[in-house]
Amino acid sequence: MDCIFCKIVNGEIPSDKVYEDEFVLAFNDIQPAAPVHVLVIPKKHIESVVALTEEDDKLIAHIFKAIRVIAKEQGLENGFRLVSNVGADGGQSVKHLHFHILGKKQFTENFG
Ligand code: 5GP
Ligand code: ZN
Repeated sequence: MDCIFCKIVNGEIPSDKVYEDEFVLAFNDIQPAAPVHVLVIPKKHIESVVALTEEDDKLIAHIFKAIRVIAKEQGLENGFRLVSNVGADGGQSVKHLHFHILGKKQFTENFG
């Protein structure tokens, strides 16, 4: 499959890994938008949040557990922004579910 993140999972494309377990991989974004910018992805190819099914309930819980571990490891006790872009209007450029952890930057209440 022609998916950049699947290629990162199988090692075809190198990445700067910060966390890995059986189901989840996390690596630094190639174009960081904040001093900490980690992408957290399931190893399984799922297109986006809207492609999730009940079968993935455990996986989602697992991803959020990984996010908590990563946030702690990255020293984000003061908070961070968690983003998952969905589809065209959401500005999703890679069609493999991912969560952006953006930290060590003061965000405002505004989106834009
Ligand atoms: P999206 O816009 O789909 O929410 O986010 C995709 C993110 O993946 C972008 O922030 C982009 O910089 C990052 N990205 C795209 N290709 C690669 C890559 O090959 N390696 C890494 N580490 N990040 C990538
Ligand atoms: Zn994929």
